[in-house]
Amino acid sequence: MLEELKERVCEANLRLVREGLVLLTWGNASGISRRDGVFVIKPSGVPYDQMKPEHMVVVSLETGEVVEGALRPSSDTPTHRELYRAFPTIGGIAHTHSLYATIWAQAQREIPPLGTTHADYFYGAIPCTRPLTPEEILSDYEANTGRVIVERFATLNPQHMPAVLVAGHAPFTWGATVEAAVEAAIVLEYVARMALETLSLNPACRAIPATLLEKHFFRKHGPGAYYGQPGSSSSAS
Ligand SMILES: [Zn+2]
Repeated sequence: MLEELKERVCEANLRLVREGLVLLTWGNASGISRRDGVFVIKPSGVPYDQMKPEHMVVVSLETGEVVEGALRPSSDTPTHRELYRAFPTIGGIAHTHSLYATIWAQAQREIPPLGTTHADYFYGAIPCTRPLTPEEILSDYEANTGRVIVERFATLNPQHMPAVLVAGHAPFTWGATVEAAVEAAIVLEYVARMALETLSLNPACRAIPATLLEKHFFRKHGPGAYYGQPGSSSSAS
């Protein structure tokens, strides 16, 4: 089942490596079929140079059980499931330990919107979760990682903010498709690096004005979007 989605999810995982966001096997991407109530995710621990679409694992959104696939799914599968259940508009998720975004996650600092590159993709500071409690780490760790993300988004719109930093861990990104989730991971890493270097050059630098943030985000997203060509997805500005 879902042969096309398996191909897309496999390709998304390989792209994370090609883009330099994933070292060894430290990452995973998934895509969901809401109609079928299942998501497709990378298997656990398979070397990227041997990874094929047929290795992808199909998981039930409702139960978390594997419904198709001979291999074990990524160990982060329960995190993906929590996010798909809480954010019904998202269609794909990516998780990496990309260098600069992970530095911000380890520092437990949100990434302020210092320029329009950030504002084109992220409507405000990229949030950081609270640390997990010892109880949350010892029991149901991966699902609890998803739950602290959902908790952080109690007052945030996941369509306006397709990224989060998990405190002491690393980023998760998402989008309408698995390809959009990977694109958000690429942009997040670039923005994280620029923010760190901007603040090292000028520690007094502050977020751009709300008007500029709104202008750049909403010309690319939402009902009034006018960036790019009709019917095409966005890229750089
Ligand atoms: Zn991780």
